[in-house]
Amino acid sequence: MKRGWYGRYGGMFVPETLMPALEQLEREYRKLSIDSNFKKELDMYLEEFAGRPTPLYLCRRLSKELGIKLYLKREDLVHGGAHKLNNTLGQALLAKHMGKTRLIAETGAGQHGCATAMAGAVLGLDVDIYMGAKDVERQKINVYRMHLLGANVIPVHSGSMTLKDATNEALRDWSASVENTHYLIGSVVGPHPFPTIVRDFQSVIGKETKEQILEREGRLPDSIVACAGGGSNAMGIFYPFIKEGVELYAIEAGGKGIKKDEKQACHSASLCVGEDGVLHGAMTKILQNEYGQILETHSIAPGLDYSGVGPELAQLCESRRVRAEMVCDDDAISAFYTLSKKEGIIPALESAHAIAYVLENVDKMGELVVVNLSGRGDKDVESVARLEGVSF
Ligand SMILES: *Cc1c(COP(=O)(O)O)cnc(C)c1O
Repeated sequence: MKRGWYGRYGGMFVPETLMPALEQLEREYRKLSIDSNFKKELDMYLEEFAGRPTPLYLCRRLSKELGIKLYLKREDLVHGGAHKLNNTLGQALLAKHMGKTRLIAETGAGQHGCATAMAGAVLGLDVDIYMGAKDVERQKINVYRMHLLGANVIPVHSGSMTLKDATNEALRDWSASVENTHYLIGSVVGPHPFPTIVRDFQSVIGKETKEQILEREGRLPDSIVACAGGGSNAMGIFYPFIKEGVELYAIEAGGKGIKKDEKQACHSASLCVGEDGVLHGAMTKILQNEYGQILETHSIAPGLDYSGVGPELAQLCESRRVRAEMVCDDDAISAFYTLSKKEGIIPALESAHAIAYVLENVDKMGELVVVNLSGRGDKDVESVARLEGVSF
């Protein structure tokens, strides 16, 4: 396989000025990824700061009802409430070892911005977060959280004033500041080497899952299910199982359903219905119109609302190693209630998509199923309540 490519996906589609930065990152990451002191230091932060290892929890009531064994990998218990910190801690430490003093990132709903701010704070790095002006307005609590964590939030007023405009600004900043700045990408997306680096840092999820399930059940699961926005929690839990006989399911946001010839996508299912194109510096499957313009997406889950997906996951779906499926808003909400009432766990709406898929397709999942519970649902309580007509 060509370096930085997964089949026909991946690559480095960036302006010339950014190539030295990407090459430096790849070189330094190669060195540090086999450095035992780096690994020891990262493991310390993952354990003492992030709260790893996370439990593998057997859903006793739901398992009985479904007639299978359903385990949850509890990434909702990671500090900050989701798997995102696994990656931001890894990259922030990498940046620090590379002698950088500043992190930049873009964020849509603010989840990745908060996780970057946490990692920057604990490692003593300056943090600037680019955020579309519309998102700043919509996500006031997360903006305030980032301020509390010592980060500076920069509103972006260009274009549609949302995530893709924030991404453009972050890339522009990096090409002028690469000397002292690391651009911390939040999922398995972006130009090479980011998809590889993020997948490696998130693979801690799959490595732990493998050990835990072998200890509990003496065998590997029949299926593993994860939701996919950019694809980092999915790649993280899948990666150590790719060469094993385990069915892997990536669940995308079907939103309000797929309609033909839509100007604006009512979903966020780039793996299921996207086409090849370049987004965020990589060739991958994206949601675009006939002119190659990126479509706005929709999902009830803010973390799934993205027009592309990581190139490695796109390739794994193309080669049929991973099955991409969709779950719509309503079914995700119904799974949100079910897990809350039956297991006492309020899941993130993103993770509720993965739960919903199992609830609907239990007959074909085998007897031993693991769902990556990528995050907790506290952040979504208000929007679910609003759907019921309750406001605070
Ligand atoms: C950000 C987020 C996601 C989507 O991101 P991936 O890179 O696809 O994992 C999923 N779940 C939660 C809880 C998130 O915060």
